[in-house]
Amino acid sequence: MLCRVFVLLIGLLASKATWGELLEYYGALKPGGVVLGRVTPGDSVRLNDQDVVVSSEGYFVLGFGRDAGLVQSLTVMSEGREAVTQLKLSPREYVTQKVEGVPKQTVTPSKEKLARIKEEASLVRKARAKSSDRLDFLGSFDVPADGPITGVYGSQRYYNGVPKRPHYGVDYAGPVGSPVRAPANGVVTLVHPDMFYSGGTLIVDHGHSLSSTFIHLSEVLVKEGQEVKKGDLIAKIGKGGRATGPHLDWRMNWQDQRVDPALMLELSVPESFYLPSKL
Ligand SMILES: [Zn+2]
Repeated sequence: MLCRVFVLLIGLLASKATWGELLEYYGALKPGGVVLGRVTPGDSVRLNDQDVVVSSEGYFVLGFGRDAGLVQSLTVMSEGREAVTQLKLSPREYVTQKVEGVPKQTVTPSKEKLARIKEEASLVRKARAKSSDRLDFLGSFDVPADGPITGVYGSQRYYNGVPKRPHYGVDYAGPVGSPVRAPANGVVTLVHPDMFYSGGTLIVDHGHSLSSTFIHLSEVLVKEGQEVKKGDLIAKIGKGGRATGPHLDWRMNWQDQRVDPALMLELSVPESFYLPSKL
């Protein structure tokens, strides 16, 4: 598995396009990738049909889901003009992972549990949908836990032989109680002590609809509405919900797209991207 992770990281390419003074962007042009960009202040940006939030300084972030189309249209609207650029994503393959020994009731939940599952999913959706004008996504991201990576983004999972939804997070193994640290600055938008699938759950907003979700936690050490700084101790690793052993599962979303935290960790931009006030 570690080998596969290595290949994934090697496959990551920073892409850059400068289009006059109108558009500059950096990131992984592939499914799961996150892109940071900058346009002339006052311009607006659209990805395909989705509006992209642009800060007053011209910064924006966008991301591509696991099964994103390989050609994406990025439109910049500037003083009545519209310019479209095609982003060509490189294709990506995902691994298959078989997980055995999962508690039966979490693979095929009973009818009574389904109502609870639905309610919890809606809480998570609402927390992720909160968009703020924070610019925390501009800062670099760090790993939230020390353990070895035992699960990667996008893998097709079989639980006790039953095909389930793909895995969207990066898993870090570690004993119950090990520290989980904020990978970047943000504000806490959801804390739940014990969800059916995800156990102790924490969501942190990094601005412009980019968020981190941490699951299977044994303890959450922050409160909703609290600001966190990169490196802060925010939670402890656990094994609640559908987990075979203690680990942290870190997920990231941009709007309704699930993006790959591993690609966020690799994202780097030149200093010239930042306005002096943002350095
Ligand atoms: Zn996981």
